[in-house]
Amino acid sequence: MDSGKAMGRRTEVTLGTRNLAVLGSHLKGQLIGPDDAGYDEARAVFSGEIDRRPSAIARVADATDVVRVVVWARDNGYELAIRSGGHSGAGHSSTNGGIVLDLRHMKSLEIDAAGRTAWAESGLTAGEFTTAAGAHGLATGFGDTGSVGIGGLTLGGGVGYLVRKYGLTIDSLLAADLVTADGRLLRVDAQSHPDLFWAIRGGGGNFGVATRFQFHLDEVGAILGGMLILPASADVIASFIAEAESAPEELSTIANIMPAPPMPFLPPEHHGRLVVMAFLAHAGGGEAGERAVAPFRALAEPIVDMVRPMRYPEIYPPDDTSYHPTAVGRTMFVDEVRRTEAETIVDQLQASDASLRVAQLRVLGGAMARVPAEATAFAHRTSRILVNLAAFYDGPADRPRREAWVAEFAAALRQNDAGAYVNFLGDEGEARIRQAYPGSTWERLVEIKARYDPENLFRLNQNIPRQ
Ligand SMILES: Cc1cc2nc3c(=O)[nH]c(=O)nc-3n(C[C@H](O)[C@H](O)[C@H](O)COP(=O)(O)OP(=O)(O)OC[C@H]3O[C@@H](n4cnc5c(N)ncnc54)[C@H](O)[C@@H]3O)c2cc1C
Repeated sequence: MDSGKAMGRRTEVTLGTRNLAVLGSHLKGQLIGPDDAGYDEARAVFSGEIDRRPSAIARVADATDVVRVVVWARDNGYELAIRSGGHSGAGHSSTNGGIVLDLRHMKSLEIDAAGRTAWAESGLTAGEFTTAAGAHGLATGFGDTGSVGIGGLTLGGGVGYLVRKYGLTIDSLLAADLVTADGRLLRVDAQSHPDLFWAIRGGGGNFGVATRFQFHLDEVGAILGGMLILPASADVIASFIAEAESAPEELSTIANIMPAPPMPFLPPEHHGRLVVMAFLAHAGGGEAGERAVAPFRALAEPIVDMVRPMRYPEIYPPDDTSYHPTAVGRTMFVDEVRRTEAETIVDQLQASDASLRVAQLRVLGGAMARVPAEATAFAHRTSRILVNLAAFYDGPADRPRREAWVAEFAAALRQNDAGAYVNFLGDEGEARIRQAYPGSTWERLVEIKARYDPENLFRLNQNIPRQ
């Protein structure tokens, strides 16, 4: 939990104020301190739980600014938080008393439509990138939410609506520009610093600040996609997963099993009843799309069926920027969701009274699974189903029991796959980070970390520590 109070290191703060002014005078971007208008807006992140008070937020304008902030924070002993889209559930993109390096104003995007590549600054969101690329009928796969930053999402892997067709986001990553702890700006790709290129594809922010990424773009014009809401019985859940597993790779699905929220388009008699709120995306559309979606529509009488032909960017409707939920969560992989597991899901969801509680199931496979586990720092290539369990809580007193519920739920679903997807980890300690980076992946990351960031300047992340 966040106290919201600045750390009480008075001498450092006094000293730092003078140095901070020097830093500010060297930036093309803006340095925002606690006395500046806009400080509260600038320090806010997505999670309503994170309420930290940095000494300053450095809104960088370009890679040179990034180098200045990195070197300054290192030389002055300030904790450094890196922020792109601000969606870290663990609160890693803010700090109490340190400096936030805020990339959100670095949004340049150069699309080479003929060459099917794009250079994208890391302050772009998934939605912004997708809209711009979509104008050319092209796309790179990101996650399920438009406001998530391409910075954090890409560096952790990136699982979204094109995962089965085109793989993880990192499978479309061709290169990155990275500012390392020693203040160098490196071009990182398969030829240049291949060790770093391996590490940043899944290893998160451990190795430096990515100022921009080069992505491969695929042709993704019209898709068949959108929301399908079904009543959630154990049979429907198990059958949904079976269909998603046997569906063509063009189809990726995200199934949220949850009590139906009181949404205006949902008939009131369903509010509070368990539903499968699914999001489907068939990257292809047309007849093949209709054929792929038909079995899901046939699982039960749909309560809502908004699956329709659309341009791919429409998969990201506008987000409500005032939405800052407080939630606990657990991420895991499972091998199968058959009738028994589906019953567990129904029972656990019914046993809680959290205002929002959900089991999210994403069937993986396809292009993602064809990349060898050792090819990138994301090692879970053969994991079958990504599961995210979450519950909202209402104030600090409510948190422990919601936390106990997700822990019990995860224990009840646990099977043989002990892995974890780093981008959905909270602040859960080293054992869980090791689950994200099993076996030789961990050893390789530790070795690369020791070479590029021996002092662990980049430590506000799912940290690969100094050994
Ligand atoms: C509502 C929601 C939906 C989500 N959906 C998905 C999904 O469908 N698929 C999926 O894969 N993930 C998803 N995520 C998880 C998401 O990928 C991670 O939270 C990711 O870290 C967010 O990136 P960000 O840039 O928005 O966050 P930030 O909080 O800005 O960054 C998180 C951390 O990443 C590192 N980082 C970020 N940018 C850089 C950079 N440019 N250089 C170096 N390090 C950097 C830093 O350590 C930083 O603290 C979702 C998260 C939320 C809250």
